[in-house]
Amino acid sequence: MSSLPSAEELRRRARDAAERCGVDWIRGGGDRAVRSPINGEVLTDVRWQSGLDGDAAVARAGDAFREWRTVPAPERGALVRRFGELLREHKQDLATLVSLEVGKIRSEALGEVQEMIDICEFAVGLSRQLYGRTISSERPGHRLMETWHPLGVVGVISAFNFPVAVWSWNTAIALVCGDPVVWKPSELAPLSALASAALLDRAIAETGAPEHLSQVLIGGPDVGEALVTSPGIALLSATGSTRMGRAVGPRVAERFGRSLLELGGNNAAIVTPSADLDLTTRGIVFAAAGTAGQRCTTLRRAIVHESVVSALVERIADAYAKLPIGSPLDEGTLVGPLISSSAYESMQDALLAAREQGGEIIAGGGRRLAEEAPGAFYVEPALVRMSEQSPIVRQETFAPILYVLPYRTLDEAIALNNDVPQGLSSSVFTGSLTEAERFLGPDGSDCGIANVNIGTSGAEIGGAFGGEKETGGGRESGSDAWRAYMRRATNTINFSGSLPLAQGVEFDI
Ligand code: NAD
Repeated sequence: MSSLPSAEELRRRARDAAERCGVDWIRGGGDRAVRSPINGEVLTDVRWQSGLDGDAAVARAGDAFREWRTVPAPERGALVRRFGELLREHKQDLATLVSLEVGKIRSEALGEVQEMIDICEFAVGLSRQLYGRTISSERPGHRLMETWHPLGVVGVISAFNFPVAVWSWNTAIALVCGDPVVWKPSELAPLSALASAALLDRAIAETGAPEHLSQVLIGGPDVGEALVTSPGIALLSATGSTRMGRAVGPRVAERFGRSLLELGGNNAAIVTPSADLDLTTRGIVFAAAGTAGQRCTTLRRAIVHESVVSALVERIADAYAKLPIGSPLDEGTLVGPLISSSAYESMQDALLAAREQGGEIIAGGGRRLAEEAPGAFYVEPALVRMSEQSPIVRQETFAPILYVLPYRTLDEAIALNNDVPQGLSSSVFTGSLTEAERFLGPDGSDCGIANVNIGTSGAEIGGAFGGEKETGGGRESGSDAWRAYMRRATNTINFSGSLPLAQGVEFDI
């Protein structure tokens, strides 16, 4: 593996990519350093905004809403089509910024931008399919129907690990639904955010859409809080840790706002005796070690039948030993860095706790490249055998640790799958239709995502994405997730000339 790129090289790449997307680099004369996890060095600095800036942005978005809500939805789709074209043109640039700021390997960073393009295409089609229903009225000469109207300003708070895709899932759908968006990106990825927002600004200007349909606020949790408390935010879509959701959800509910929460996961795969172990190993290694274990859908628990557990552990350990770990910009790297020193410390703390709780570390866990880049945190993905689902296994540690648990009966395996506070993603690897259907059924996995013969991570945009329990219950992206971004009105139209009342009520005056 080649050595890590120099700080100058990373800065140059960041500046070039950001400028090509339309970011004025002079804006880099700010007060907060932006670091790259690739070498731990400063890329540039940005100016952080305050809660007051958040209030002003919400007010401007309110003005944009009053204009945008009456623009026909297919015309709103034209803006998103243009945005999608610009994303295509700048796919490489945005992917570069994603790699530089959050350490994703090249193909995963490109995949993240591809997801943005995909959701734009989905939203453009959706702009002609925001269907309501016509419902049979119980009264003669009456028609009952429902219509969907734009909801209002959407606030988006996003996490570091999908620094731009999550915003685009929300934004592409919100815009065709008639809603402006105010975005508070992760403080760890301001450049990717500014570049994405600059492309959307360009599409807005070119298509003559109202100013301030899209605004980005660079800052910390206080800026996020301005969105949480503002009555001007009709829907708050917040992606991040369960800790953040716990702080945000009740406060939005207090003012009767709508929230869409996409929080932590603790995802499991059940491996049954009939599973194809080659396919299972590949599925597990991508889901557990990919993105250095920093996806909400990362596989954290493998629940493996006792008859195949030793064979599978051996295969995974062999694959882990060959994983190329290093600069995410290098061709061939599969595991990039952790986001920060605190992520590294959480991983080490979790491994210590796992040992104390009876676990055996089979592979990995060590640090790499520490001498070359003391401020960067590269780790070997860890494989840990546990005899039971102890407290450390039941919590999400946002790092590449895969706990392996044995099981005897499928009932026991499903109970283990469900016996965690989170409910995001889950899988079963099996050759048995009966086992697969049981896992997918009403008494099977309790997660928002349940897969067969594929890992827990790497969802497509066509389905609704989200999870249950402490994952927050929100759904975004495809299917009918758009409904969260609109308000439903039920309309009764009387063309009978008389006034019959529902349920046969008489009220003669
Ligand atoms: P985080 O909770 O630290 O931060 C997420 C965002 O919330 C940031 O923009 C942060 O500034 C903001 N924030 C934090 N506290 C806030 C508050 N009190 N008020 C308003 N805003 C606040 O999460 P992270 O470390 O960036 O991301 C990792 C976490 O996100 C993991 O738990 C992961 O599972 C989760 N995640 C979930 C999904 C999903 O779709 N379910 C997707 C990606 C990440």
